[in-house]
Amino acid sequence: MIPFREQGCDYCREKWIYRSDQPGFIGEADGSRFYRCALCRSYWELGFDYPSVVDRQRVLAMLGTGRV
Ligand SMILES: [Zn+2]
Repeated sequence: MIPFREQGCDYCREKWIYRSDQPGFIGEADGSRFYRCALCRSYWELGFDYPSVVDRQRVLAMLGTGRV
């Protein structure tokens, strides 16, 4: 697993630490909320565990192609 400090960028990691406005919320499914950073374009998933960067395929599978 990739350490949190190596995921996304400084800007979107601050979201989880300082509650900034990045990454932006894009949708939720099956109890997980998905976000995308406007700077580094990383997708984030916040489920029952700590937030982590996920790949686009995961987001497409969860939210559907029309919303990503
Ligand atoms: Zn970022």
